Formats: sequence, structure tokens, C-alpha cells
Amino acid sequence: IVVQGLQPGGQLTITTDVENYPGFADVIQGPWLMEQMQKQAEHVGTRMMWDTIVEVDVEGGPPFRAVGDSGDEYIGDTLVIATGAQAKWLGVPGEQELGGKGVSACATCDGFFYRNKDVAVVGGGDTACEEALYLSKICSHVHMLVRRDEMRASKVMQDRVMQSDKITVHWNSETDEVLGEQVVEGMRVKNNKTGELTEIPIEGFFVAIGHKPNSDVFAEFIDTDEQGYVVTSSDSTATNVKGVFAAGDLQDKHYRQAVTAAGTGCMAALEAERYLSAEGYV
Ligand code: NDP
Repeated sequence: IVVQGLQPGGQLTITTDVENYPGFADVIQGPWLMEQMQKQAEHVGTRMMWDTIVEVDVEGGPPFRAVGDSGDEYIGDTLVIATGAQAKWLGVPGEQELGGKGVSACATCDGFFYRNKDVAVVGGGDTACEEALYLSKICSHVHMLVRRDEMRASKVMQDRVMQSDKITVHWNSETDEVLGEQVVEGMRVKNNKTGELTEIPIEGFFVAIGHKPNSDVFAEFIDTDEQGYVVTSSDSTATNVKGVFAAGDLQDKHYRQAVTAAGTGCMAALEAERYLSAEGYV
């Protein structure tokens, strides 16, 4: 049984072009890829459930019990958690109000709407650099807001950003407010060294400050690190609870690619099968 959650197919359903999933010579679409994965799983007998898990009890070993918000209970001798991660937000005024009206957490999904317009990207990691570079090919100008006087991103990504004449990096800069009535019209930026406030006109505001793993519902029983990522044994998807495995972005803060998630999904399936067989369930 696969319980699909609020966003069946996950983050790939809110992306467009996928160019680095192996096996496809041409560019494919994220939603299409997830549709194919679902069909493939159904083809081998998987039952897809439209439900979201709100409670889990894995104490005392199998059978494990999960409860959906439908009220239905799911009982399993083994459990694979693959709930992924979601984008983090800043929590500044205007951000939530203008969500989908110029505020986005995915340049590859929404960048297209800002062709030949000025936009901003918040963050100083590899994702922020990647998004800024992607947007620089579409938009007229990209303002990158970095809260410190250095970036966390890899040197090669930083170099590419610094070499682009379509990207301006604003150091020590934080968003004070996203401005606009119906749609994003600008942002007020605060220099956290001088306290100076500056208003910059933009039409797209892209937040790229990392992701939060969707582990809250399991955190009572399953070991997570300080950022909430599920901890798995090395070279394995095994969690601290015997018979419970974790795969994908929920336990991977480094790679976060469709192919690496699929790879750990495969590991989890094999480990779950071996576990069931070793414990005499099958
Ligand atoms: P990171 O955690 O690496 O970076 C987050 C960035 O956002 C940091 O610059 C951080 O600043 C900043 N930030 C966090 N919170 C705030 C805030 N409230 N206001 C302003 N800025 C904030 O996340 P990424 O998503 O960039 O990367 C995650 C992982 O994925 C990394 O390991 C990365 O290397 C990898 N990755 C690799 C890619 C590639 O190789 N092509 C592409 C994309 C990701 P500060 O540094 O001050 O904390």
C-alpha cells in the first residue's frame, strides 16, 4: 500500500523540465514522470491510497500502525517512510499574502512567468545560485539577497553567479517586506550591518533558503538530526526502529535529486523485503 499524502508525486509535480533523470534522451516533465512511476507501481500490484498520515505508532515493533486523516488505519509488518521535504519560507510581511502572485520557491516551475522582468532570489546556498543562474537566462535582471558577507554555496556556483552581469548580489541583506497589492511590485531590503532600508522594484520574488524534511509525524519514534532529517544507518535506509526504513529527501540533505531519491527508494524496498523474509513474514 502506498499512502500518497497531500501532494501525490511530491516535489516533482511542481517542477517542469527534468533533464537529469537517467534513461530519457529528451527533456521530460516532472508531473509526467510521477504519473509513470505511479502506473508502474500499480502495474506490479501496489494499491494507492488517497490519504495523509496524521499519526504513527511504531513502538513495540510490528505490526506498525498509521492513521490517516480520513480516520482509516493502515497496518503493516514493515514501513518505508518517503515523505520528502518542502521549501522553507522567510516569514516576512507580504510573503504569504503574495504567494503564487509573484512569490515562489521554485524558479524552474515559475521563472517562465517573469520573462524580461526584474526578479529577486533570497539565499546564498547552491539552490539560490542555481535559481539565480536559471532566472538570469529568462529575466532582465536578478537581485540576489545574501544575509551574510559570504555565501554557503560551492565555489564553482558562486563563481558563475559573480561572473553573470545579469545578477547583482546584495551582501548582508535581508528582506524586510515583499511589496505589492495584488501582485509583487517590489521588496524592501534591510542591510543588517548598517540598518539601511532600500526599496527595489521587482515582479518575482524567489525564496531559496533550503528545505524542511516532512518528518514531524514520525519524530516521536524515529531518530532525526537537528534539522529534522531522518537518520539512517550508513549504506542503508534502516532507521533506529527495526523494520522501519526511510528513503528520499526525508533522509537526504545533500543530493536531493529525483535519481538519488529513487535510488534510496530501491534500497528501502530491498531492505524491507529482506527484513520481512528474515523475520518469517513471507
Ligand atoms: P543550504 O542550507 O545549503 O543554504 C541555505 C541558504 O539560505 C544559506 O545561504 C542560508 O544562509 C540562507 N538562509 C537560510 N535561512 C535564511 C533566512 N531566514 N533568510 C535569509 N537567508 C537564509 O540550502 P540549499 O537548498 O541551497 O542546498 C541544500 C543542499 O543541496 C546543499 O548541500 C547543496 O550543496 C545541495 N545542492 C546542490 C546543488 C548542486 O550541486 N548543483 C544544487 C542545489 C542544492 P546562511 O549561510 O547564512 O545560513
